[in-house]
Amino acid sequence: MKAVVYEGKGKLALEERPVPKLQEATDAIIRVTLTTICSSDIHIKHGAVPRAVPGTILGHEFVGVVEETGEAVRGFRKGDRVAVNVETFCGECFFCKRGYVNNCTDPHGGWAMGCRIDGGQAEYVRVPFADNGLTAIPDEVSDEAALFTGDLLSTGYWGASLAEIRPGDTAAVIGAGPTGLCCMMCARLYQPSRIIAIDVDDSRLELARKQNLADVTLNPLRDDVEKEVRRLTEGRGADAVLEAAGGKDTFQMAWKIARPNAVAAIIAMYEEPQTLPLPDMYGKNLIFKTGGVDAADCGRIMDLIAQGKLDARCLITHRTTLDRIMEAYDVFENRRDHVIKVAVRVN
Ligand SMILES: [Zn+2]
Ligand SMILES: [Zn+2]
Repeated sequence: MKAVVYEGKGKLALEERPVPKLQEATDAIIRVTLTTICSSDIHIKHGAVPRAVPGTILGHEFVGVVEETGEAVRGFRKGDRVAVNVETFCGECFFCKRGYVNNCTDPHGGWAMGCRIDGGQAEYVRVPFADNGLTAIPDEVSDEAALFTGDLLSTGYWGASLAEIRPGDTAAVIGAGPTGLCCMMCARLYQPSRIIAIDVDDSRLELARKQNLADVTLNPLRDDVEKEVRRLTEGRGADAVLEAAGGKDTFQMAWKIARPNAVAAIIAMYEEPQTLPLPDMYGKNLIFKTGGVDAADCGRIMDLIAQGKLDARCLITHRTTLDRIMEAYDVFENRRDHVIKVAVRVN
């Protein structure tokens, strides 16, 4: 089968690989039907994900059909359409029991697929702990509508919950790329009075506005973001800040535009360390929450998709096939042609 392999820093290739086999009774083999490229794949390519193992097939955001299940898998059988969770988790350890599946202590726990074990930019993939890692796709939900369930929408859903948005709040989202747009989409579920989208790319801001994901858009290249956020909030600052950009100055922006006692949810994955200037923020009494998604809400997210309350299909700006995925990598990595996400059909 064809698969995208991370060969080491700076090197990805579409290669021929053997079809995976069941290894544990809790595994399932999935025939991938639609997959995508995530900015985390680009971080891996850049060598910015130290735990990524060279030789691993990339891909952690995809949907497919169950081909085979291990004897201990209870919830799924051959032929079921499924979305696959970015994280594999045992469901039984200290962290899993508390919903912190990103820190599952199983050797395969957390973000393993497409990083430490083979992922889904391939024709087939082995999914460990299939009962936890798969989410059934209802008949009325298309592959494209379900594609982002396990990673991007999980991240947006988790990020919005971290930010503790209350009805009537002003929520500011830094970054209007795929993650930021999903954060806005999920922030809407909490009925803020206003969502402010901040990005340097006007086409992304336009998408946010057109899709009604943001009420106000600010471009730091043109707007004094801190001043504008204050102006919109009677001088207070945003009630909740979601930092999903991971840019050079965006961490500083996040705490500066937050009002005192706000939550700043730091969802972005930085390629460099950031400074926390405690003397400057003294007295602002901020709450920082950081990290990588606990993707433990896929069932709930799929329900919201089926009900039409979450629809991330607007993120798909490009469509291609697995044979041409390396061209899609080039488009995605270099942000050509206003790309947001590429849906890659696997036949
Ligand atoms: Zn991802
Ligand atoms: Zn666990």
